Amino acid sequence: MKSITLLGATGSIGLQTLDVIAEHPDQFKLYAIAFGRNIKKAQEIINKFNPAKVVVLDETIRQALQIHNSYTTFLVGKEALQEVSADPNTDVLVNAVMGSVGLEATLTAIEHRKQIAIANKETLVTAGHLVMDAADKYEVDLLPVDSEHSAIFQALNGESYRDINKIVLTASGGSFRDKSREELLGVTVADALKHPNWSMGAKITIDSASMMNKGLEVIEAHWLFNMPYEKIEVIQHKESIIHSMVEYADKSVIAQLGTPDMRVPIQYALTYPQRLSLSSSKSLDLVEMGELHFSKMDLNRFPCLDFAYQAGKTGGSMPTVLNAANETAVDLFLHEQITFLEIENIIEHAMLTHNNIQNPNLETINAIDLEIRSKINESYR
Ligand code: NDP
Ligand code: MG
Repeated sequence: MKSITLLGATGSIGLQTLDVIAEHPDQFKLYAIAFGRNIKKAQEIINKFNPAKVVVLDETIRQALQIHNSYTTFLVGKEALQEVSADPNTDVLVNAVMGSVGLEATLTAIEHRKQIAIANKETLVTAGHLVMDAADKYEVDLLPVDSEHSAIFQALNGESYRDINKIVLTASGGSFRDKSREELLGVTVADALKHPNWSMGAKITIDSASMMNKGLEVIEAHWLFNMPYEKIEVIQHKESIIHSMVEYADKSVIAQLGTPDMRVPIQYALTYPQRLSLSSSKSLDLVEMGELHFSKMDLNRFPCLDFAYQAGKTGGSMPTVLNAANETAVDLFLHEQITFLEIENIIEHAMLTHNNIQNPNLETINAIDLEIRSKINESYR
Protein backbone atom coordinates (compact mmCIF):
# COMPACT_ATOMS: atom_id res chain seq x y z
CA MET A 1 0.00 0.00 0.00
CA LYS A 2 1.50 3.34 -1.07
CA SER A 3 0.66 6.46 0.86
CA ILE A 4 0.29 9.42 -1.49
CA THR A 5 0.72 13.14 -0.98
CA LEU A 6 -0.92 15.09 -3.78
CA LEU A 7 -0.01 18.73 -4.39
CA GLY A 8 -2.52 20.46 -6.66
CA ALA A 9 -5.33 18.02 -5.80
CA THR A 10 -8.13 20.25 -7.12
CA GLY A 11 -6.55 20.71 -10.59
CA SER A 12 -6.88 18.72 -13.79
CA ILE A 13 -3.96 16.36 -13.04
CA GLY A 14 -4.88 16.29 -9.34
CA LEU A 15 -8.45 15.12 -9.98
CA GLN A 16 -7.30 12.49 -12.47
CA THR A 17 -4.76 11.26 -9.91
CA LEU A 18 -7.65 10.88 -7.48
CA ASP A 19 -9.51 8.78 -10.09
CA VAL A 20 -6.50 6.45 -10.25
CA ILE A 21 -6.25 6.27 -6.43
CA ALA A 22 -10.00 5.55 -6.15
CA GLU A 23 -9.74 2.76 -8.69
CA HIS A 24 -7.07 0.92 -6.67
CA PRO A 25 -7.97 1.23 -2.98
CA ASP A 26 -5.85 -1.86 -2.24
CA GLN A 27 -2.72 -0.18 -3.71
CA PHE A 28 -3.00 3.50 -2.80
CA LYS A 29 -4.12 5.62 0.11
CA LEU A 30 -4.42 9.41 -0.11
CA TYR A 31 -2.40 10.72 2.83
CA ALA A 32 -2.22 14.48 2.24
CA ILE A 33 -3.46 17.12 -0.19
CA ALA A 34 -2.55 20.69 -1.03
CA PHE A 35 -4.54 23.02 -3.27
CA GLY A 36 -5.03 26.72 -4.00
CA ARG A 37 -8.43 28.43 -3.84
CA ASN A 38 -10.98 25.89 -5.04
CA ILE A 39 -12.72 25.29 -1.70
CA LYS A 40 -15.70 23.45 -3.19
CA LYS A 41 -13.57 20.80 -4.91
CA ALA A 42 -11.30 20.51 -1.87
CA GLN A 43 -14.31 19.86 0.37
CA GLU A 44 -15.51 17.09 -1.97
CA ILE A 45 -12.05 15.50 -1.91
CA ILE A 46 -11.85 15.71 1.89
CA ASN A 47 -15.31 14.15 2.26
CA LYS A 48 -14.50 11.31 -0.11
CA PHE A 49 -10.88 10.47 0.80
CA ASN A 50 -10.46 11.68 4.41
CA PRO A 51 -6.79 12.63 4.01
CA ALA A 52 -4.81 12.90 7.26
CA LYS A 53 -3.31 16.27 6.27
CA VAL A 54 -4.71 19.18 4.30
CA VAL A 55 -2.45 22.08 3.30
CA VAL A 56 -4.24 25.41 2.83
CA LEU A 57 -2.90 28.76 1.65
CA ASP A 58 -4.35 30.79 4.53
CA GLU A 59 -6.66 30.86 7.56
CA THR A 60 -9.71 32.01 5.57
CA ILE A 61 -9.59 28.88 3.44
CA ARG A 62 -9.09 26.69 6.49
CA GLN A 63 -12.18 28.17 8.14
CA ALA A 64 -14.29 27.57 5.03
CA LEU A 65 -13.62 23.81 5.15
CA GLN A 66 -15.43 21.25 7.26
CA ILE A 67 -13.91 18.12 8.70
CA HIS A 68 -16.12 15.22 9.82
CA ASN A 69 -13.49 13.05 11.49
CA SER A 70 -11.08 13.35 14.39
CA TYR A 71 -7.78 12.78 12.59
CA THR A 72 -7.59 15.24 9.65
CA THR A 73 -5.30 18.14 10.50
CA PHE A 74 -4.60 21.39 8.65
CA LEU A 75 -1.26 22.94 7.76
CA VAL A 76 -1.22 26.56 6.67
CA GLY A 77 1.07 28.44 4.28
CA LYS A 78 3.55 27.85 1.49
CA GLU A 79 6.17 26.17 3.72
CA ALA A 80 3.61 23.48 4.55
CA LEU A 81 3.99 22.19 0.97
CA GLN A 82 7.50 21.18 1.98
CA GLU A 83 6.41 19.80 5.31
CA VAL A 84 3.96 17.30 3.76
CA SER A 85 6.49 16.43 1.05
CA ALA A 86 9.01 15.46 3.74
CA ASP A 87 6.46 13.75 6.00
CA PRO A 88 7.59 10.24 7.04
CA ASN A 89 4.11 8.95 6.09
CA THR A 90 4.47 10.15 2.49
CA ASP A 91 5.68 7.32 0.22
CA VAL A 92 4.96 9.02 -3.11
CA LEU A 93 4.77 12.73 -3.82
CA VAL A 94 2.61 13.65 -6.81
CA ASN A 95 3.54 17.22 -7.67
CA ALA A 96 0.68 18.57 -9.78
CA VAL A 97 0.66 22.23 -8.81
CA MET A 98 0.81 24.76 -11.58
CA GLY A 99 3.95 26.87 -11.78
CA SER A 100 7.32 27.33 -10.14
CA VAL A 101 5.64 27.46 -6.70
CA GLY A 102 6.20 23.68 -6.70
CA LEU A 103 10.01 23.91 -6.77
CA GLU A 104 10.89 23.76 -3.07
CA ALA A 105 8.45 20.89 -2.49
CA THR A 106 10.13 18.86 -5.24
CA LEU A 107 13.59 19.55 -3.79
CA THR A 108 12.44 18.66 -0.27
CA ALA A 109 10.87 15.38 -1.42
CA ILE A 110 14.12 14.47 -3.19
CA GLU A 111 16.15 15.18 -0.05
CA HIS A 112 13.81 12.84 1.85
CA ARG A 113 14.17 10.15 -0.83
CA LYS A 114 10.49 10.01 -1.78
CA GLN A 115 9.25 8.46 -4.97
CA ILE A 116 8.23 11.48 -7.06
CA ALA A 117 5.64 11.59 -9.82
CA ILE A 118 6.28 14.92 -11.47
CA ALA A 119 3.63 16.75 -13.51
CA ASN A 120 4.85 20.19 -12.42
CA LYS A 121 7.11 20.82 -15.44
CA GLU A 122 7.79 24.46 -14.47
CA THR A 123 9.94 23.07 -11.62
CA LEU A 124 12.27 21.41 -14.12
CA VAL A 125 12.32 24.40 -16.43
CA THR A 126 13.11 27.00 -13.80
CA ALA A 127 15.74 24.99 -11.89
CA GLY A 128 16.44 21.78 -13.78
CA HIS A 129 20.11 21.65 -12.77
CA LEU A 130 19.29 21.92 -9.04
CA VAL A 131 16.54 19.30 -9.25
CA MET A 132 18.63 16.80 -11.24
CA ASP A 133 21.76 17.33 -9.10
CA ALA A 134 19.68 16.60 -6.00
CA ALA A 135 18.02 13.59 -7.65
CA ASP A 136 21.49 12.17 -8.50
CA LYS A 137 22.84 12.89 -5.04
CA TYR A 138 19.94 11.25 -3.19
CA GLU A 139 19.45 8.56 -5.88
CA VAL A 140 15.81 9.40 -6.43
CA ASP A 141 13.90 8.63 -9.63
CA LEU A 142 11.73 11.39 -11.01
CA LEU A 143 8.86 9.59 -12.69
CA PRO A 144 7.33 11.70 -15.45
CA VAL A 145 3.59 12.33 -15.58
CA ASP A 146 3.69 14.51 -18.69
CA SER A 147 2.45 12.19 -21.46
CA GLU A 148 5.38 12.85 -23.82
CA HIS A 149 7.95 12.22 -21.10
CA SER A 150 6.16 9.14 -19.86
CA ALA A 151 6.26 7.89 -23.47
CA ILE A 152 10.01 8.51 -23.71
CA PHE A 153 10.59 6.99 -20.29
CA GLN A 154 8.76 3.85 -21.45
CA ALA A 155 10.52 3.79 -24.83
CA LEU A 156 13.91 4.10 -23.10
CA ASN A 157 13.23 1.25 -20.72
CA GLY A 158 16.49 -0.50 -19.98
CA GLU A 159 18.51 1.09 -22.82
CA SER A 160 21.64 3.16 -22.43
CA TYR A 161 21.25 6.88 -23.17
CA ARG A 162 24.51 6.76 -25.14
CA ASP A 163 22.88 4.66 -27.86
CA ILE A 164 20.25 7.23 -28.70
CA ASN A 165 20.22 9.32 -31.88
CA LYS A 166 17.35 11.55 -30.83
CA ILE A 167 14.15 12.01 -28.90
CA VAL A 168 11.10 13.07 -30.91
CA LEU A 169 8.40 14.93 -28.99
CA THR A 170 5.00 15.12 -30.65
CA ALA A 171 2.84 18.25 -30.49
CA SER A 172 -0.88 18.37 -31.19
CA GLY A 173 -0.59 22.01 -32.27
CA GLY A 174 -3.03 23.34 -29.66
CA SER A 175 -6.20 25.36 -30.19
CA PHE A 176 -4.74 27.58 -32.92
CA ARG A 177 -2.87 25.04 -35.03
CA ASP A 178 -4.87 25.88 -38.16
CA LYS A 179 -4.63 29.65 -37.76
CA SER A 180 -2.09 31.87 -39.51
CA ARG A 181 -0.20 34.54 -37.53
CA GLU A 182 -2.52 37.19 -38.96
CA GLU A 183 -5.53 35.26 -37.68
CA LEU A 184 -4.00 35.18 -34.19
CA LEU A 185 -4.36 38.95 -33.86
CA GLY A 186 -7.99 38.84 -32.76
CA VAL A 187 -8.18 35.59 -30.77
CA THR A 188 -9.89 35.59 -27.36
CA VAL A 189 -9.27 33.75 -24.09
CA ALA A 190 -12.31 31.53 -24.77
CA ASP A 191 -10.89 30.58 -28.22
CA ALA A 192 -7.51 29.72 -26.68
CA LEU A 193 -9.07 27.53 -23.99
CA LYS A 194 -10.60 25.13 -26.55
CA HIS A 195 -7.93 22.45 -26.87
CA PRO A 196 -8.71 19.90 -29.61
CA ASN A 197 -7.51 16.72 -27.83
CA TRP A 198 -6.89 17.22 -24.10
CA SER A 199 -8.89 18.73 -21.25
CA MET A 200 -6.36 20.49 -19.01
CA GLY A 201 -5.87 23.43 -16.63
CA ALA A 202 -6.15 26.95 -18.09
CA LYS A 203 -2.44 27.84 -18.02
CA ILE A 204 -1.23 24.73 -19.84
CA THR A 205 -4.04 25.07 -22.40
CA ILE A 206 -2.79 28.58 -23.26
CA ASP A 207 0.79 27.23 -23.29
CA SER A 208 -0.37 24.61 -25.81
CA ALA A 209 -1.90 27.27 -28.04
CA SER A 210 1.32 29.35 -27.99
CA MET A 211 3.48 26.18 -28.31
CA MET A 212 5.31 27.25 -25.14
CA ASN A 213 4.07 24.02 -23.61
CA LYS A 214 6.18 22.09 -26.10
CA GLY A 215 9.07 24.46 -25.42
CA LEU A 216 8.82 23.77 -21.69
CA GLU A 217 8.67 20.06 -22.52
CA VAL A 218 11.89 20.30 -24.56
CA ILE A 219 13.66 21.68 -21.47
CA GLU A 220 11.92 19.08 -19.27
CA ALA A 221 13.16 16.30 -21.59
CA HIS A 222 16.69 17.73 -21.58
CA TRP A 223 16.85 17.42 -17.81
CA LEU A 224 14.88 14.21 -17.24
CA PHE A 225 16.76 12.24 -19.88
CA ASN A 226 20.12 14.02 -19.81
CA MET A 227 19.73 14.77 -23.52
CA PRO A 228 21.49 17.58 -25.42
CA TYR A 229 19.09 20.04 -27.11
CA GLU A 230 20.46 19.07 -30.54
CA LYS A 231 19.02 15.60 -29.99
CA ILE A 232 15.53 16.76 -29.06
CA GLU A 233 13.19 17.24 -32.01
CA VAL A 234 9.56 18.36 -32.09
CA ILE A 235 7.11 17.35 -34.80
CA GLN A 236 3.44 18.14 -35.14
CA HIS A 237 1.06 15.19 -34.84
CA LYS A 238 -2.48 16.41 -34.59
CA GLU A 239 -4.16 13.23 -33.31
CA SER A 240 -2.02 12.93 -30.10
CA ILE A 241 -1.90 9.13 -30.50
CA ILE A 242 1.88 8.70 -30.66
CA HIS A 243 2.83 10.36 -27.40
CA SER A 244 6.54 10.61 -28.28
CA MET A 245 9.39 8.40 -29.50
CA VAL A 246 13.07 7.57 -29.31
CA GLU A 247 15.36 6.86 -32.26
CA TYR A 248 18.27 4.57 -31.38
CA ALA A 249 21.75 4.41 -32.93
CA ASP A 250 20.62 1.69 -35.35
CA LYS A 251 17.69 3.93 -36.53
CA SER A 252 15.19 1.72 -34.79
CA VAL A 253 12.38 3.91 -33.44
CA ILE A 254 10.40 3.00 -30.33
CA ALA A 255 7.21 4.95 -29.75
CA GLN A 256 4.50 4.78 -27.12
CA LEU A 257 0.91 5.01 -28.33
CA GLY A 258 -2.49 5.31 -26.74
CA THR A 259 -5.70 7.30 -26.71
CA PRO A 260 -5.17 10.75 -25.13
CA ASP A 261 -5.89 10.06 -21.44
CA MET A 262 -3.66 11.53 -18.72
CA ARG A 263 -4.74 8.84 -16.25
CA VAL A 264 -2.49 6.38 -18.09
CA PRO A 265 0.83 8.22 -17.52
CA ILE A 266 -0.31 9.28 -14.03
CA GLN A 267 -0.96 5.67 -13.06
CA TYR A 268 2.30 4.46 -14.58
CA ALA A 269 4.24 6.99 -12.48
CA LEU A 270 2.48 5.63 -9.39
CA THR A 271 2.89 1.92 -10.16
CA TYR A 272 6.28 1.87 -11.97
CA PRO A 273 7.83 -0.62 -12.67
CA GLN A 274 4.52 -2.53 -12.53
CA ARG A 275 1.40 -1.94 -14.60
CA LEU A 276 -2.16 -2.17 -13.32
CA SER A 277 -5.47 -2.28 -15.17
CA LEU A 278 -7.24 1.04 -15.69
CA SER A 279 -10.91 0.52 -16.41
CA SER A 280 -11.63 4.11 -17.40
CA SER A 281 -9.10 4.19 -20.25
CA LYS A 282 -10.12 3.19 -23.79
CA SER A 283 -8.28 0.77 -26.08
CA LEU A 284 -6.63 2.36 -29.08
CA ASP A 285 -8.37 1.38 -32.31
CA LEU A 286 -5.95 2.21 -35.12
CA VAL A 287 -8.24 0.77 -37.78
CA GLU A 288 -10.99 3.10 -36.70
CA MET A 289 -8.49 6.00 -36.65
CA GLY A 290 -7.48 5.11 -40.20
CA GLU A 291 -4.82 7.80 -40.57
CA LEU A 292 -2.23 9.56 -38.43
CA HIS A 293 -0.70 12.84 -39.58
CA PHE A 294 2.76 14.36 -39.06
CA SER A 295 4.27 17.65 -40.13
CA LYS A 296 7.30 19.82 -39.48
CA MET A 297 7.13 22.45 -36.73
CA ASP A 298 7.45 25.98 -38.05
CA LEU A 299 9.48 28.05 -35.56
CA ASN A 300 8.40 31.31 -37.25
CA ARG A 301 4.77 30.39 -36.74
CA PHE A 302 5.47 29.33 -33.15
CA PRO A 303 8.26 31.60 -31.81
CA CYS A 304 7.71 30.48 -28.19
CA LEU A 305 9.13 27.08 -29.09
CA ASP A 306 12.19 28.84 -30.49
CA PHE A 307 12.53 30.95 -27.30
CA ALA A 308 12.51 27.78 -25.21
CA TYR A 309 15.25 26.14 -27.30
CA GLN A 310 17.30 29.35 -26.99
CA ALA A 311 16.75 29.60 -23.23
CA GLY A 312 17.60 25.93 -22.76
CA LYS A 313 20.78 26.13 -24.85
CA THR A 314 21.87 29.37 -23.14
CA GLY A 315 21.29 27.72 -19.75
CA GLY A 316 22.12 29.50 -16.48
CA SER A 317 19.25 31.69 -15.33
CA MET A 318 17.70 32.10 -18.81
CA PRO A 319 15.18 29.24 -18.43
CA THR A 320 14.04 30.82 -15.13
CA VAL A 321 13.40 34.06 -17.02
CA LEU A 322 11.56 32.23 -19.80
CA ASN A 323 9.33 30.48 -17.28
CA ALA A 324 8.62 33.46 -15.03
CA ALA A 325 7.84 35.72 -18.00
CA ASN A 326 5.60 33.08 -19.50
CA GLU A 327 3.68 32.39 -16.27
CA THR A 328 3.11 36.12 -15.76
CA ALA A 329 2.16 36.82 -19.37
CA VAL A 330 -0.27 33.89 -19.53
CA ASP A 331 -1.91 35.09 -16.33
CA LEU A 332 -2.27 38.59 -17.81
CA PHE A 333 -3.80 37.09 -20.95
CA LEU A 334 -6.23 34.95 -18.91
CA HIS A 335 -7.31 38.15 -17.13
CA GLU A 336 -7.76 39.84 -20.52
CA GLN A 337 -5.11 42.45 -19.80
CA ILE A 338 -2.98 41.66 -22.85
CA THR A 339 -3.59 40.09 -26.26
CA PHE A 340 -2.51 36.58 -27.17
CA LEU A 341 0.43 37.74 -29.31
CA GLU A 342 1.68 40.01 -26.52
CA ILE A 343 2.56 36.86 -24.56
CA GLU A 344 5.48 36.17 -26.89
CA ASN A 345 6.57 39.83 -26.97
CA ILE A 346 6.77 39.90 -23.19
CA ILE A 347 8.83 36.71 -23.04
CA GLU A 348 11.18 37.82 -25.81
CA HIS A 349 11.73 41.20 -24.16
CA ALA A 350 12.41 39.62 -20.75
CA MET A 351 15.00 37.28 -22.28
CA LEU A 352 16.69 39.98 -24.37
CA THR A 353 17.10 42.32 -21.40
CA HIS A 354 18.32 39.68 -18.93
CA ASN A 355 21.98 39.48 -17.89
CA ASN A 356 22.43 35.73 -17.73
CA ILE A 357 23.87 34.20 -14.56
CA GLN A 358 25.61 30.84 -14.86
CA ASN A 359 24.79 28.04 -12.44
CA PRO A 360 22.34 30.02 -10.27
CA ASN A 361 21.55 28.68 -6.80
CA LEU A 362 18.05 28.47 -5.33
CA GLU A 363 18.20 31.93 -3.81
CA THR A 364 19.24 33.50 -7.13
CA ILE A 365 16.54 31.61 -9.00
CA ASN A 366 13.85 32.76 -6.58
CA ALA A 367 15.11 36.36 -6.76
CA ILE A 368 15.12 36.38 -10.58
CA ASP A 369 11.70 34.73 -10.71
CA LEU A 370 10.27 37.45 -8.45
CA GLU A 371 12.02 40.29 -10.28
CA ILE A 372 10.76 39.21 -13.70
CA ARG A 373 7.18 38.84 -12.42
CA SER A 374 7.23 42.26 -10.71
CA LYS A 375 8.67 44.07 -13.75
CA ILE A 376 6.06 42.63 -16.10
CA ASN A 377 3.19 43.21 -13.68
CA GLU A 378 4.29 46.83 -13.15
CA SER A 379 4.22 47.46 -16.89
CA TYR A 380 0.95 45.73 -17.75
CA ARG A 381 -1.41 45.53 -14.74
P1 NDP B 1 -4.64 23.21 -12.94
O1 NDP B 1 -4.63 24.68 -13.08
O2 NDP B 1 -5.85 22.45 -13.37
O3 NDP B 1 -4.35 22.82 -11.43
C1 NDP B 1 -3.33 23.43 -10.69
C2 NDP B 1 -3.44 22.97 -9.26
O4 NDP B 1 -2.45 23.65 -8.47
C3 NDP B 1 -4.79 23.29 -8.61
O5 NDP B 1 -5.10 22.27 -7.70
C4 NDP B 1 -4.50 24.58 -7.87
O6 NDP B 1 -5.39 24.83 -6.81
C5 NDP B 1 -3.10 24.25 -7.35
N1 NDP B 1 -2.33 25.40 -6.93
C6 NDP B 1 -2.11 26.53 -7.60
N2 NDP B 1 -1.34 27.37 -6.86
C7 NDP B 1 -1.09 26.73 -5.68
C8 NDP B 1 -0.38 27.06 -4.50
N3 NDP B 1 0.24 28.24 -4.36
N4 NDP B 1 -0.32 26.14 -3.49
C9 NDP B 1 -0.93 24.96 -3.63
N5 NDP B 1 -1.63 24.58 -4.73
C10 NDP B 1 -1.71 25.47 -5.73
O7 NDP B 1 -3.35 22.67 -13.69
P2 NDP B 1 -3.09 21.26 -14.37
O8 NDP B 1 -3.57 20.17 -13.49
O9 NDP B 1 -3.54 21.29 -15.77
O10 NDP B 1 -1.50 21.25 -14.42
C11 NDP B 1 -0.71 21.04 -13.25
C12 NDP B 1 0.73 20.83 -13.68
O11 NDP B 1 0.79 19.64 -14.48
C13 NDP B 1 1.30 21.95 -14.54
O12 NDP B 1 2.66 22.09 -14.26
C14 NDP B 1 1.11 21.43 -15.95
O13 NDP B 1 2.05 21.96 -16.85
C15 NDP B 1 1.34 19.95 -15.75
N6 NDP B 1 0.71 19.09 -16.74
C16 NDP B 1 -0.65 19.09 -16.90
C17 NDP B 1 -1.26 18.27 -17.85
C18 NDP B 1 -2.75 18.20 -17.97
O14 NDP B 1 -3.26 17.37 -18.73
N7 NDP B 1 -3.51 19.01 -17.26
C19 NDP B 1 -0.46 17.43 -18.74
C20 NDP B 1 0.96 17.46 -18.46
C21 NDP B 1 1.50 18.28 -17.50
P3 NDP B 1 -6.82 25.59 -6.99
O15 NDP B 1 -7.39 25.17 -8.31
O16 NDP B 1 -7.58 25.07 -5.83
O17 NDP B 1 -6.56 27.05 -6.91
MG1 MG C 1 2.63 17.11 -22.36
